[in-house]
Amino acid sequence: MSSSPPKSWFRSVAFRLNLWYVLLFTLSGAGAFLLMYYLLVAALEGKEREVIQARLQEYATLYQSGGLGALRVRLAAEQQQPDQKTFFVRVVDRWNQVALVRVPEEWISFKDAGPGWDGYRRQIGIIRVPQNEERDFALLSVVFADGSLLQVGRSASNREALVIPIRRTLAATFLVVVVLGFAGGAFLSQRALRPVRQMVETARTIIQTGSLDARVPLRQSSDDLDELAQLFNRVLDRNQALICGMREALDNVAHDLRTPLTRLRGSAEMALQDRQNPAAPREALVECVEESERVLSMLNTLMDIAEAESGTMRLHPERVDLRCLVEEVREVYEFTAEEKSVTLVVEAPAPCVAEVDPNRLRQVFGNLLDNAIKYNRPGGRVTIRAAVAGGRARVELADTGPGIPAEEQDKIWARLYRGDKSRSQRGLGLGLSLVKAIVEAHRGAVSVRSEPGQGAVFFVDLPVDFACQNRPGPEASAA
Ligand code: ADP
Repeated sequence: MSSSPPKSWFRSVAFRLNLWYVLLFTLSGAGAFLLMYYLLVAALEGKEREVIQARLQEYATLYQSGGLGALRVRLAAEQQQPDQKTFFVRVVDRWNQVALVRVPEEWISFKDAGPGWDGYRRQIGIIRVPQNEERDFALLSVVFADGSLLQVGRSASNREALVIPIRRTLAATFLVVVVLGFAGGAFLSQRALRPVRQMVETARTIIQTGSLDARVPLRQSSDDLDELAQLFNRVLDRNQALICGMREALDNVAHDLRTPLTRLRGSAEMALQDRQNPAAPREALVECVEESERVLSMLNTLMDIAEAESGTMRLHPERVDLRCLVEEVREVYEFTAEEKSVTLVVEAPAPCVAEVDPNRLRQVFGNLLDNAIKYNRPGGRVTIRAAVAGGRARVELADTGPGIPAEEQDKIWARLYRGDKSRSQRGLGLGLSLVKAIVEAHRGAVSVRSEPGQGAVFFVDLPVDFACQNRPGPEASAA
């Protein structure tokens, strides 16, 4: 028997879950960071626009009231204050000639750009002039009624100086968050899938060692996976019970078949050796037929029990008055009872209707009645009662035999079990196992009450509506 080696972590569900988690985490994290960044940049740009707009407004008022001269005076005054020199100012007259220009020192590429700059000559609104990788310009223009144009601009270096470290900080934070997310995801998926790994380990142990005792440790957390582990353990329990039962039954059958088969062979050998007696072969054949009947009956009963216990027994339930069934069985055993001077009495005053498979129930009552007569004292009595109460039908068989010792009462239901004092009687030790299996296949229960020396009472409890319970109803199909 071979089993696959443990999978590497990279091929496990935990890893794949973690990968999906990190992917989603990274995408949503990246989205959030980008949004934050663009909102910040937009806010800074808005602020920048406000500053340029205010300055443009100021210069436009000055230009309109005092003309170029007033504007030149203002710019000359600003020239004295170093912090005021940062604004680009240009006036283009209606003939498209530059009438006034002031270029801040950092607008190097503007100076170099030469004719390329003309492209922005009459544009109105914020104009981005890419200067180099880190800096661009923002320019606002206004056109007056006489056709002349006033432009005010500023280098975006202030904004960039703010944005660049923020961008770097955001990128670094994002990386840390992704790494932490990966580690957290790995931890969580490992933890969440631990019961699944334990189930795999348990199954592997059972396959490799053949030991049926291995079980999944439970966490008592009552979550889905814990419930799955509990169900897994219950399946293992059930399988173990079935396998042990089968092993035991096989051992018992092998042991019990040996005796009749040895007798069969002994009879045949003796007949072959006894050449003097012409009737010997015939007698041997009769014995052989009897022994084979016994073996066949044993095998059939064992198969019936196995079918009933595994749930594969086909039942044909119909509404039957159990009083009639019991009466039929009593008639069948009347002769056997008479032989032993045992009186059979049926006490069932009211109808006792239940949905049962009548043929199987005949087997049940037949086996119980057979035992009640077989283990009874000569001149004894067997009383059969049948009644319905609370949705259940109860049939009881009370005898006046020696009873069953308390320590044997649990064992009598086991296959091939025979009481110590019963070995002198005919029997296979399968009757009560079959009774139990058939009654439980009807969703019923069978039990015994007995005081040694006081006889035994066997109880058969059956649901009256067995077929209804098994028919798939709307709830069952919905579930
Ligand atoms: P068998 O009767 O062939 O031995 P059963 O399975 O029918 O097998 O019964 C198992 C054992 O239970 C019997 O061997 C006997 O010891 C005990 N038993 C069953 N029915 C009775 C009874 N009515 N009175 C006393 N003992 C009983």
